[in-house]
Amino acid sequence: MEDIKSLLPDELKSFMVSLGQPSYRGSQVFSWLHKHLVYSFDDMTNLPLGLRKRLGETAFITSLNILSRTEGRKGTVKYLMETYDKNAVEAVRMEYKYGITACLSTQVGCKMACSFCASGQSGFIRNLTTSEIVDQALKIQKDVSRFSSDIGNIVLMGTGEPLDNYEASVKALRLFNAKEGLGISFRRMAVSTCGLVPGIRRLAEEGIPVTLSISLHAATDDLRDKLMPINRRYPIPELLDAAAFYRERTGRRVTFEYTVIQDVNDSPACARQLAKLLQGQMAHVNLIPFNPIDEREFVRPTIHRMNTFQKILEEASIPTTVRRDLGLDVHAACGQLRPRYCR
Ligand code: SAH
Repeated sequence: MEDIKSLLPDELKSFMVSLGQPSYRGSQVFSWLHKHLVYSFDDMTNLPLGLRKRLGETAFITSLNILSRTEGRKGTVKYLMETYDKNAVEAVRMEYKYGITACLSTQVGCKMACSFCASGQSGFIRNLTTSEIVDQALKIQKDVSRFSSDIGNIVLMGTGEPLDNYEASVKALRLFNAKEGLGISFRRMAVSTCGLVPGIRRLAEEGIPVTLSISLHAATDDLRDKLMPINRRYPIPELLDAAAFYRERTGRRVTFEYTVIQDVNDSPACARQLAKLLQGQMAHVNLIPFNPIDEREFVRPTIHRMNTFQKILEEASIPTTVRRDLGLDVHAACGQLRPRYCR
């Protein structure tokens, strides 16, 4: 059976040709799936009946089942969606000045085991397929019609490490970009990584100018080793080289995410080390106030500590923003997403 929602427009055209159909049927089916958000071949009313039947026999349409939908403040909605094999993944809809952002998961669980993040606490279960990543956005989009506004931005910042599920993640982004579908520009998409250096280099050559966000969280290898096991494999100097390569190849400024944890990485000395490290990198820093998770004693810093930290970076001419924690009230904030429904 063909996983039809994973096919790019060209692949869908070839698939139609393989069924003895003219290739324009591929564009029609693509639009039904990715623009008109239809979940049954029977609803594809401009296809001949025989073809609808044939499609039903040769292909399936991935459809995640919405288990729950929790509304938070300011238009944030957390969705818990179930895969065919009963795994649960989370996706979040957020509302900013510049439109709706869909935050999507790329894996069930995570292998990376960062000490402050909920997603990896119960280990890794499996990669999501392209169509499972895509359908999270389509389900949000279908729901969004209630809010009369379309998804304008996609961020792969939910559960999982996108560069550890490279092919499926990148293909999902290409599908979001397709003009027969959501037609979202690559510049309005972001991939967040804990720092898989080979993946960053590969993405740099992919020809899709998405924003790269690197989860840095520490300015020294000593501290980063403690917080993020991946740092032992790809230490900071290698990571910064890869970031520079990404910037060179894509012309895009790299964002460094820094989750600020009280008494762990939030001292003025840490801020100065970070400023020094990123000097001349044309980087942008996104500070994320630590969001509490059950498993850890870590504490969210005070506003005052956050402001001091930000000020030191800005004084060193490093553009710095503080991420609004839109999802905190629905346990959908950064680092709080997890594969099992346990709240
Ligand atoms: N695996 C990718 C995608 C996750 S994105 C990555 O590591 O980048 C989620 C972002 O939230 C990452 O920057 C992650 O480090 C950060 N984060 C994880 N746990 C957090 C927590 N408890 N509070 C705040 N931010 C957290």
